[in-house]
Amino acid sequence: MANLQRHASTVQVIDTLAEVTRHQNRELIERSLVKTLAETVTCNELRLYRIVRVPPEIELLLIDQAVNLPPRTAEQSPGFDGTVSPDISDSIVEAVESGEIISHVGEVSCVVYPIEDKNGGIHAVLVQFVDRIRFEEQRLTHGLLRIYTNYLTLIDESQRDKLTNLLNRETLDETIIRLMTEKHVHRASVPGRRREDRGAHWLGLLDIDHFKQINDTRGHLFGDEVLILLANLMRNALREEDLLFRYGGEEFVVIIDVPSIETARMVFERLRKMIGNHPFPQIGQVTASIGVVEIATQNGPSSVIGDADRALYFAKHAGRNRVEIYEELIQQHKLSDLSESQTSSIDLF
Ligand code: GH3
Ligand code: MG
Ligand code: MG
Repeated sequence: MANLQRHASTVQVIDTLAEVTRHQNRELIERSLVKTLAETVTCNELRLYRIVRVPPEIELLLIDQAVNLPPRTAEQSPGFDGTVSPDISDSIVEAVESGEIISHVGEVSCVVYPIEDKNGGIHAVLVQFVDRIRFEEQRLTHGLLRIYTNYLTLIDESQRDKLTNLLNRETLDETIIRLMTEKHVHRASVPGRRREDRGAHWLGLLDIDHFKQINDTRGHLFGDEVLILLANLMRNALREEDLLFRYGGEEFVVIIDVPSIETARMVFERLRKMIGNHPFPQIGQVTASIGVVEIATQNGPSSVIGDADRALYFAKHAGRNRVEIYEELIQQHKLSDLSESQTSSIDLF
C-alpha cells in the first residue's frame, strides 16, 4: 500500500513538472505552478506573491491563488482578496529577508517559501496554508519550487539579449501580439468606454545616430560598451512596467502604456533628451532618433514595426536627434513625401 501511494505521488510530481514546463510564458508558468502544486501537495490553499521592494517597505502583489479548502471561519480567513494578517505578513518579511523557509504556526498555519531569482534575490514567495505542518511535504514543495526557479531562469535567459540583458527581438513579436489581443478583448468587454480612459501602448523604435562613426573611430568593443551604457540608462529612466528590447545592432524598442499621444511624445522626448545630455566617457554626446507608433489595429507585429520604422526614417532625414510620431506624420501628409520604394530601397539602419 505504501509503495502504491509512493508510486502515485511520484507520477503526480512528474505530471506537475510536465504541466509547469509545458509553458514558456512567465505568467502561464506561474499560474500553472500554483494550480498543479495545489493538486500535488497537501494544503488548504496556495498563494504566490510577487515581492515589490519600495524601500523601506516590501509590497506583496498576489499573482495567483488556488483554494482546496476554504477557511473554516471568517476570523480564520487569511483573506481571499490576497491580504494576509499582520502575523503572517511578518513571517513573509522574515522569509524574504532571511531567504529561509518559514513555518508559521498560529490560528491559521502556513509555510512561507522564498523564491530566488538567478541573482539570488528573492522575487516571490509561495504561501502554503495547511492544517498541520509536515516536514516531508515541505521538502517536496521546496524541491518543486527549485526546479520551477531553474526553469524560469532558463526561459528568462532565452528571452534576453546577451550583451545588454534587455529583452530580445524574438520576444518582441509575441509581446506585440499579446498587447493587440488584450486590446481586442478589452474593446469587446467595455464598448462604452472612451479611448482616453483606457491607456494605449505606444511603441518607439530608437536608433543611435551615426553609430558607425563610434565604431570606426573607437573600435567595435567601445561601441559595445556604449550599447550597454545606453541600455542601462534607458532602463533606469523608464518605469518598471515599460518594456525595453534590443531590436538589432544599435536599435532598441521601447513600449510604454500611456493615455494619449501627447503623453507618449513627452515620454519619448524626455528619453531622447536624457540620452543626448548624458556624458558618455571619451565620446561625450551620443544622440538617438525615435520613430513612434501606437500599437492599435495594425495587421500584426511587422506592420507595427514597419510604421515605427517609417517615422524613424523620417526623423533621420529631418536631421536626427528627433522624435517623430507616425500618426502625426500621416495626419500632416508628411509620409506621402517618401514613397514606399524610397523607404525600402535605402537601407539606412
Ligand atoms: P544613422 O544615424 O543613420 O543611424 O547612422 P548609423 O551610423 O548609426 O547607421 P548605420 O546603419 O549606417 O550603422 C549602424 C552601425 O552599427 C553599423 C554597425 O557597425 C554597428 N553595429 C551594429 N551592431 C553592433 C554591435 O552589436 N556592436 C557594435 N559595436 N556595433 C554594432
Ligand atoms: Mg544608427
Ligand atoms: Mg540602425
